[in-house]
Amino acid sequence: MPPLYSAPSILILGGTTDARLLAKALAEQGGRRVELSLAGRTKAPLAMPVPTRVGGFGGAAGLADYLRAGGFSLLVDATHPFAARISANAVQAARLAEVPLISLHRPGWEAQAGDDWRMVADVPAAVAALGPAAARVFVTLGRQEVAPLLAAPQHHYLIRSVDPIDPPLPLPHLECVLDRGPFSLDGEMALLRQHRISHILSKNSGGEAARAKLDAARQLGIPVIMVARPDKPAGMLVENVAGVLGLLHQTGPAMDRGV
Ligand code: NAP
Repeated sequence: MPPLYSAPSILILGGTTDARLLAKALAEQGGRRVELSLAGRTKAPLAMPVPTRVGGFGGAAGLADYLRAGGFSLLVDATHPFAARISANAVQAARLAEVPLISLHRPGWEAQAGDDWRMVADVPAAVAALGPAAARVFVTLGRQEVAPLLAAPQHHYLIRSVDPIDPPLPLPHLECVLDRGPFSLDGEMALLRQHRISHILSKNSGGEAARAKLDAARQLGIPVIMVARPDKPAGMLVENVAGVLGLLHQTGPAMDRGV
C-alpha cells in the first residue's frame, strides 16, 4: 500500500463541521482530488468546499465498491460520534477495498467542577431520568432522536434542531426552535433563562460548536442528562482536523501501514 502522503484521491465521510473544515483545508492545499459524502439527513446543508455526493452506499460492500470505482486511495471517516453504523462500514469497506482509513473521532465532553451531569446509556433512559414531576427540558438530541419524549408527555419541552421535526411530535407542551451552531455562552444563557429551563438533555457529542450550553448549565446550576457515546470502530485514530493533516504530511515507513 502506498504511503498516505502520496494519497492523490480522498473520500471523506462527513455530516460534521470537522468534515467540512477538513475538506476545505485539503482543497486549499491543492494537489489532491477530494470528495465529501453526506448521508442526506440535513435538508439544506451548508455549501461544501469540494464536490459532494449524497445518500447511503448500501452498506460496507457498497462503500467498498464506491472506493474502488472512484479510484480512491484514502478513506477518512469524519462522521458524528453517534453515527456508529457508518463507522463500522468504513472499517469493513477499507479492508475490502484495500485503502487506508483515518478516523477523525473528536473527544467527548468531560464534566468539570460545578457540573451536575447524569450519565445515561440512551435517549429512552434520558427521558426516564427526568422523573415523574413536570420539568422544563431543553432538548438538543437531534430531530431524529426525539420520539422517546412521547413516553413522558408531562414535561414541557424546548427542542432545538437544524430542520423541523417531521412529522411533528404530538406532545401537549412543546416548543421548537430552529438553529444551527456554533452557539455562544451569552446566547445559551439567555435561552435557558427565557424558557426557565430546569433540565438539559444532551448527547455527549463533544466539539466546540455545541459546548456553550454546558458552560451555561454550570453557571445556572441546571442539571444535564447526558447520553453516553456508542462505540465507534476506527482505523488510524485522530482527534481533530490537524491530526488528519499531520498524518498526511508524515512520510516514511510508519505511515506505510494502512489499516
Ligand atoms: P449511522 O446510523 O451511522 O448511519 C446510517 C446509514 O446512513 C449508514 O449505514 C449509511 O448508509 C448512511 N450514512 C451515514 N453517514 C453517511 C455519509 N457520511 N455518507 C453516506 N452515507 C452515510 O448515521 P446517523 O447517526 O444516521 O447519521 C447520519 C449522518 O448524519 C452521518 O453522516 C453523521 O455524520 C451525521 N450526523 C449525525 C448525528 C447523530 O447524532 N447521529 C449528528 C450530526 C450529524 P449505507 O449503509 O446505505 O451506506
